Amino acid sequence: MSELNPFRIAQQQFDESAEHLGLDDGLRAFLRHPQREYHVTLPVRMDDGKFRCFHGYRVQYNSARGPTKGGLRWHADETIDTVRALAAWMTWKTAVVDIPLGGGKGGITCNPKELSQGEQERLARAYIRAVARILGVTKDVPAPDVYTNPQIMAWMMDEYETINGESHPGVITGKPLTLGGSKGRMDATARGGVYCTREAGRHLDIDWDAASYAVQGFGNAGQFGATLHRELLGKSRFIAASDSRGGVYCAGGMDPEALVRHKKDTGSVGGFPGSEPISNADLLELDVDVLYPSALENVITADNANKIKARIVCELANGPTTPEADKILHDKGVTVLPDFLANAGGVTVSYFEQVQNTYNYYWDLDVVHDRLDRKMTEAFEAVWARCEREKVHMRLAAYLVAVERVAQAVRDRGWL
Ligand code: NAD
Repeated sequence: MSELNPFRIAQQQFDESAEHLGLDDGLRAFLRHPQREYHVTLPVRMDDGKFRCFHGYRVQYNSARGPTKGGLRWHADETIDTVRALAAWMTWKTAVVDIPLGGGKGGITCNPKELSQGEQERLARAYIRAVARILGVTKDVPAPDVYTNPQIMAWMMDEYETINGESHPGVITGKPLTLGGSKGRMDATARGGVYCTREAGRHLDIDWDAASYAVQGFGNAGQFGATLHRELLGKSRFIAASDSRGGVYCAGGMDPEALVRHKKDTGSVGGFPGSEPISNADLLELDVDVLYPSALENVITADNANKIKARIVCELANGPTTPEADKILHDKGVTVLPDFLANAGGVTVSYFEQVQNTYNYYWDLDVVHDRLDRKMTEAFEAVWARCEREKVHMRLAAYLVAVERVAQAVRDRGWL
């Protein structure tokens, strides 16, 4: 279905903002496509001694505001169009939080759950050998995303440094602390989203002690979303969570930390003591104050948007809401905190990590949190003000802020 091709969706969202801003045709044509993209084929020796070929991608969508930046996703359904869409959203994300970087993204089509540690390491190193020449602190800097983690970033950094024969910790972010990672990176995506939720709650007069919330996708972003909501916003009831294997519901509320431990021990949220099972579809339609979609794309569509009862949808995942669904939610009065604003905390602390790597001097955790809070709050307020002023929905308001900044950088460079 073309509606669900993420890159078509990203282009459709951009087109709406370009129309609203009255961008000229040249700029529109330039900004609706990636500047550069690389497709690589990676032969990897498997544990059984045979070779298997994997397909990988790196898309450098736009570098007008600085070196491109964006995560690496390892997923069986990864396609060039998913990577293009995510790279476009990275471009708008770095612009909306106003950090001096462009947008990029990469991926490998694979199922990491079927790969041993050794196979994952050989795949990570093969990818870097294939794309090393286009990476670097002044060119393009990857980071973790779905099914990639600090260990994979560490192997990749090591391979890059081995090829170049010198230290380059800033070539990749989301590294372990021992190798130049930043304090506060692990929970930064969710923390930034919860800061946005806090600000939205201030405008909407939400009493957090009486509120409830649900998390769809209990991975890195979702787990920290669940625990940080409780830590930063008071005693809200955490009533449901799901992962790829199913969901759990408890009207009286669950302890998010205990659910994280349960998932760690059992591999899934399913069977959490005191909970009952809930489908992903039903979880999305729960009557909660905040819904955190934190898994993958296209979960709120024209088919279910009318049934969404949350007051705030804080998109920790990229692309969970289709454009048709956006309009329905807006008309229903649901406040959507759009992905490239709500989950920008990850790239913001990745940027802090790069800055620390460059200085070779490392910040305390409270410094990271303070600076992240300031960045996210400023970005939220700029988008909220635009939304109020122009009477548009939050995603369009975020696009207007971001696209305007990228377009200005393109013009200032004299590219168009
Ligand atoms: P992750 O791999 O840690 O977690 C993904 C979770 O989603 C897993 O628990 C998985 O079981 C669950 N899931 C998969 N399919 C599902 C389904 N159909 N229904 C319910 N749950 C399902 O990945 P992550 O890093 O947490 O990323 C999640 C989302 O957040 C992605 O869209 C990613 O692009 C976005 N994001 C992540 C970061 C980051 O720093 N980790 C930054 C920005 C955006």
